[in-house]
Amino acid sequence: MSESCVFCSIVAGDLPSRKVHEDERVLAFMDINPISDGHLLVIPKAHARDLHDVPADDLAACALVAQQLATRAVERLGADGVNLLQCSGEAAFQTVFHVHLHVIPRYAGDP
Ligand code: 5GP
Ligand code: ZN
Repeated sequence: MSESCVFCSIVAGDLPSRKVHEDERVLAFMDINPISDGHLLVIPKAHARDLHDVPADDLAACALVAQQLATRAVERLGADGVNLLQCSGEAAFQTVFHVHLHVIPRYAGDP
């Protein structure tokens, strides 16, 4: 855990979040500033800075959870498509430096 990391604080329960999945490696929760209905984030519980830093097992576990939640967005929210997004580095618009996958449901005709 990194003491100054907002996502580590969410994992520890020190900050609130709307959790949608939790297992021994992975946590998924709703994005606080969603860009679409159902926008959520999938993170490894163990702190890693970005795509280059995260251990393969944690990345694979996150990818599988992201796939399950993307399917759920289609089945339960009626999404017409899904974007998976991963930003690594400031130049790629990463703002929280605890690696995460965005699962962004998309709806026909949305902006
Ligand atoms: P990035 O730009 O690093 O890929 O995305 C960071 C994401 O984390 C943003 O979509 C932002 O809305 C979300 N975020 C930042 N702080 C919090 C927080 O405290 N709680 C939750 N649920 N999401 C957060
Ligand atoms: Zn962290």
